[in-house]
Amino acid sequence: MRENLIQLAYLVAVIGFGLSLYWMNSAKTARRGVLAGEIAFAIAIVATLAYPGVTGTGWVLIIIAIAIGTAIGIPLGLKVPMTAMPERIALSHAFGALAVACVGVAHYFLDWEHFGKFEIAVIGIEILLGGLVFTGSLMAAGKLHEMLPQRPILFAGQNYANFALIGVGLAIVAFLMFNPDQTWLIPVLACLALLIGVALIVPIGGADMPTVIALLNSYAGLSAAALGLVLNNKLLIVAGALDGTAGLILAIIMCRAMNRSFRNVLFGAFGAVDETAVEGGGDQGQVRSASTDEAAEIMKMARSVVIVPGYGMAVAQAQHKVRELADTLEAEGVDVKFAIHPVAGRMPGHMNVLLAEANVPYEKLLDMDEINADFPQVDVVLVLGANDVVNPSARHVKTSPIYGMPILNVDQAQCIMVVKRSMRSGFAGIENELFFNPKTLMVFGDAKQVVSELTLDVSGQRDAIGL
Ligand code: NDP
Repeated sequence: MRENLIQLAYLVAVIGFGLSLYWMNSAKTARRGVLAGEIAFAIAIVATLAYPGVTGTGWVLIIIAIAIGTAIGIPLGLKVPMTAMPERIALSHAFGALAVACVGVAHYFLDWEHFGKFEIAVIGIEILLGGLVFTGSLMAAGKLHEMLPQRPILFAGQNYANFALIGVGLAIVAFLMFNPDQTWLIPVLACLALLIGVALIVPIGGADMPTVIALLNSYAGLSAAALGLVLNNKLLIVAGALDGTAGLILAIIMCRAMNRSFRNVLFGAFGAVDETAVEGGGDQGQVRSASTDEAAEIMKMARSVVIVPGYGMAVAQAQHKVRELADTLEAEGVDVKFAIHPVAGRMPGHMNVLLAEANVPYEKLLDMDEINADFPQVDVVLVLGANDVVNPSARHVKTSPIYGMPILNVDQAQCIMVVKRSMRSGFAGIENELFFNPKTLMVFGDAKQVVSELTLDVSGQRDAIGL
């Protein structure tokens, strides 16, 4: 009876995970998706704790672990800014994968005499994947947080060396299948897996880290599914498979949005930036700048304004001020829309989340494909803390690290205003020829400050209060 109830609870949890992923497809239902995921996790944990084998000391240890996890998780959730979300996610993967690898090692030493070849192969793969995801994710988080050098470290024959390490790992797993009593090989396999994680990430540049994190997420899911097979836990198998495929699909979407192939992300050296691309490849012409009141005058006269948010809007936390500016412009009869690039910011959907938080109506957010053809008819484009996603060199500078990445065609609008603090480059570390376009006006300053001033100027309140 108890076993049946546990399996029923697992089924409900699996349905909850599926619905959670489905609802997260759209910004409108994403909150519901998060809630469904949380409820499903709670059901899964309670059902697991109800297993007859969990008693006495087991309970105490589990409660201590939950208390430690909660004490770390709540402040992390509250304090980590949205802009640092990719590295926070990488840390979650790292520790999840470490747990999977540790369970695999413990399980082997406790029970290897009863294992068949299949179980040994699965445990071996689990340790290999768990270990490499642990160090790989820590490296990825370190690179994204700029605690480790972002540039790829390359040497001749590196890919062959990495394949050789993976080959040795797989050979150890195969050897163990036929010689399970050679338990000393398990710590060797675990150390090798940790080394592979480091070796795989070293040649990848910081710019590709979010994609690599999505891929590591997929490996972590696979290792959890392998653990489910070993423990004969159907929930772990399904949840691991969902995690694995979701991570893979996300990595593919990110690669497509950046026009990069998987092979290129994993073995290329994005970040080894060509110097001509950094310098913009020669004489770029003059930069024209404008004050906020000049910019506001132009905006007020426009029939249509398209706002293009980017990473800088997230850094400045300017989303609420942007909503106020959009409302003020609309009150002046200006048509306002938002153009969202799929990789603006530092994670997929970054801009959608921020603008949803500021209650910008969803129908005003247009994807790149929906809006790109309309830019020639747009009077004013306000580029707010975006850089790489509007860099026209992606179309024609073959040496550029963003060559081939689809961009928002803001250079085709009648007037372009770029809000940023300086002439510094964006994530890809290259100069942006848009800033030198004769139609472009640079409005220098922090995005939140500039947008607040623009709103006051558009509404005429600045004159009214005599500023
Ligand atoms: P970028 O990183 O290209 O540029 C952001 C710009 O914001 C900078 O040039 C910076 O200029 C400006 N900025 C920073 N802080 C502020 C501030 N407080 N106020 C005003 N401006 C500010 O951002 P994009 O969104 O255009 O491009 C995203 C990049 O991230 C792309 O290269 C993409 O490939 C990459 N990426 C994105 C992923 C995703 O999933 N979203 C995943 C992987 C990579 P300044 O310092 O002069 O102010």
